[in-house]
Amino acid sequence: MFQDSTAAMDPRMRVGEILREPLGIQGVGSRAEQEAQIGTLLDAVGLPRGAVHRYPHEFSGGQRQRLGLARALTLSPDLVVADEPVSALDVSVQAQILNLMRELQRERGLTYLFISHDLAVVRYLADTVGVMYLGKLVETGPAEEVYARPLHPYTQGLLDTVNVPDPSATAGSGSPLAGETPSAAKPPSGCRFRTRCPLAQDVCAEVEPPVAAPRGAGHQEACHFPLPVPEEVAAQPV
Ligand code: SF4
Repeated sequence: MFQDSTAAMDPRMRVGEILREPLGIQGVGSRAEQEAQIGTLLDAVGLPRGAVHRYPHEFSGGQRQRLGLARALTLSPDLVVADEPVSALDVSVQAQILNLMRELQRERGLTYLFISHDLAVVRYLADTVGVMYLGKLVETGPAEEVYARPLHPYTQGLLDTVNVPDPSATAGSGSPLAGETPSAAKPPSGCRFRTRCPLAQDVCAEVEPPVAAPRGAGHQEACHFPLPVPEEVAAQPV
């Protein structure tokens, strides 16, 4: 699934052709079987079967993203890569697409590799989270763990930028992210985050931090000075 659902589809092809193309290339079923499968797919993503006669531009952004999901599922994959699939949609439409993805995940046993800058969306959908900075994973772990007890300063900085829909809530306790993101083509020596990290020490410029051994249910970070985890918290079962 792509971020830009308009650019992701050939504007000269009708929806029926778009969805049938992978089946034709892979030689799956007869023409009648392919059409039946496309009808089932459209049912699954909540679009009318008559959609096969229409062009992508005749649909709204949310409907086109449903088509994108249907196309991704055409060959019954185990894994779907979704790259910012809802960032171009209104919040209410985002919720519809995310709920649909969760529903289909349950029904079809799918795994999503969901790429997003929206931490609230990731929290809603993900079981396991990987936080990347300049092309490197700096923290991975179960979503609940990463959000409740981040170990890497970058993760903490990201979480501190999330708006909380509660006027009485206080801001996050960590340091908000400061400074510019360096060029990924010429990243800083040692730890790539060191030019923006409030905890940086000399060693951070010299030695790239290794990925630490997993804690608890597989929570790992790559940092010389990971955020402290209170003993009573660390002792809690995940
Ligand atoms: S390794 Fe050093 S610079 Fe990098 S995140 Fe950890 S403390 Fe900050």
